[in-house]
Amino acid sequence: MLVGELRSAVEGLVGVDVHSLTDAELVADLVEVRRQIDRLEAAWLARVAVFDARHVYASDHAASSAAWLRSVCRLSPGDAASRVRAARCLRDQLPATAEALGAGDISWPHAKVVCEQAGKVADRLGEPGAQALTQAESVFVDAALQLHPADVGRVIRRWEHVIDADGFLSDADRAFERRYLNISTSWQGVVHLDGRLDAESGAVVLAAIDSLTAPTPDDARSAGQRRADAFIELSRQALDRGDLPVTGGEKPHITVEVTLDSLERRLGCEPGELTRTGPVPADTARRLACDASITRIITGPDSEPLDVGRRTRVIPAAVRRALYLRDKGCTWPGCDYPAEWTDAHHIHHWADGGPTTLANLRLLCRRHHRAQHHHDQQHDSHHRDGDPGIPHDDRNHHDDQSWFAHPAHAPP
Ligand SMILES: [Zn+2]
Ligand SMILES: [Zn+2]
Repeated sequence: MLVGELRSAVEGLVGVDVHSLTDAELVADLVEVRRQIDRLEAAWLARVAVFDARHVYASDHAASSAAWLRSVCRLSPGDAASRVRAARCLRDQLPATAEALGAGDISWPHAKVVCEQAGKVADRLGEPGAQALTQAESVFVDAALQLHPADVGRVIRRWEHVIDADGFLSDADRAFERRYLNISTSWQGVVHLDGRLDAESGAVVLAAIDSLTAPTPDDARSAGQRRADAFIELSRQALDRGDLPVTGGEKPHITVEVTLDSLERRLGCEPGELTRTGPVPADTARRLACDASITRIITGPDSEPLDVGRRTRVIPAAVRRALYLRDKGCTWPGCDYPAEWTDAHHIHHWADGGPTTLANLRLLCRRHHRAQHHHDQQHDSHHRDGDPGIPHDDRNHHDDQSWFAHPAHAPP
């Protein structure tokens, strides 16, 4: 009968035209409906606990309460299992938590974190653990009344360390053992990262990434994009410092192979080729070549190398020093990235005959270097159209020259 009343009350609530509510009514409803949902969760869990204790599921030929909930209430396996564990824990070990949830003073996520974390510790320690939990429960409920669930989890972890430092340590060791970072490259050259770190290792990575993710004034990047950029910048700076271990007889760096046609963005040109991830747009190769070490390779009709030139820096060290002194950092309006985080950009690209002189160079951070090239490419497509104004006197040699650019510029 009670459930019948609940059903009509909920029907009334669902039937309300929510667009007709005033802001004040909306706020009041949001708070109160949420609270009643939590109270209902408590009422539901209390029933699950009795259902479980009486093994009612067995009469339906289910293997367990969780299995029964999965099939009849259509809960996911994880959800069903965590609800049954919580129902038992609230019934047997956490009466004050159950009461607070029943009153709508704490939420289901709060109750869940107390049951899962504190319940797990109590189970591990047996009788002394159960006693410790009984003593500490009011502290957890107080915390839940004031804090977010994740912060309540922190309170519980501190308690766990106090009563069972060995268990806490082996948990941390296990989390460290389970660390991994998968890096896979798709056939399109897109690199996927997926990983898991223990608390200490994660803090190291977060500290480094967070220091580089602050948005700049003109920043339209999402938080995810800023984190990705920070991660790339960290890797790039490590390469640029040149103190990483040597592999294959060379300091680690990235290499792009590109034909002269592609550097000049001629119509029908081939893409550039990055050693590890494959083809990239000719425009990308052109941007990478803007500030790089270059090896010129003359190839014969069957692409066999006939002559390999010396590897030289596009920007000589003295010019770079002068440029750092003049620009001090990224010259994009409003950007304050320091010089060490920039590329030297040729205003008139060297592949088009632009000189490597101070007057033709400006410092740009990687993001603004990309933006500048994107802008130039949009406003300067004459090469692609085969503009007759471009000198073509070396046209016959274009097919037999390719260039290797090594854009990690700092190591000689
Ligand atoms: Zn450039
Ligand atoms: Zn910038």
